[in-house]
Amino acid sequence: MNIGVLRRDGRTDPFFDGTAAGRLVIRRCEACDRWFAPDEAGCPDCGNEDLGWAEASGEATLVTWTVTHSRDAGQPPAHLALAELAEGPWLHTRLDGVDPASLREGLPLRAVFVHPDEGESYVLFRPWTERHSVR
Ligand SMILES: [Zn+2]
Repeated sequence: MNIGVLRRDGRTDPFFDGTAAGRLVIRRCEACDRWFAPDEAGCPDCGNEDLGWAEASGEATLVTWTVTHSRDAGQPPAHLALAELAEGPWLHTRLDGVDPASLREGLPLRAVFVHPDEGESYVLFRPWTERHSVR
């Protein structure tokens, strides 16, 4: 699955340092005990413009998704998704290892990390079942 080469923009370095190490690092407001997506600029509750970074569990549930078919005939369709992290924030992501028939709202997901030869590592989400956990 090709999503293009990702480059860090300076503002999201901790996020990409995290993905490189197989960790999902997102924004967190210590004062409010609230978590935010990596691209969040400030805390809407307390106005904190200097959000910290913290490692999330990588557990999420599926909120919604769309299937996009590649113009490239050999490529499988991509599943773009909105995932709700266990910590609360919603993340735009892609699904990996998906059986389209199994997709439903609330489906448990886990973060998986991709380390391409070029560009930054990134995170995808994969459906999580008991079957996977005992593998
Ligand atoms: Zn806050």
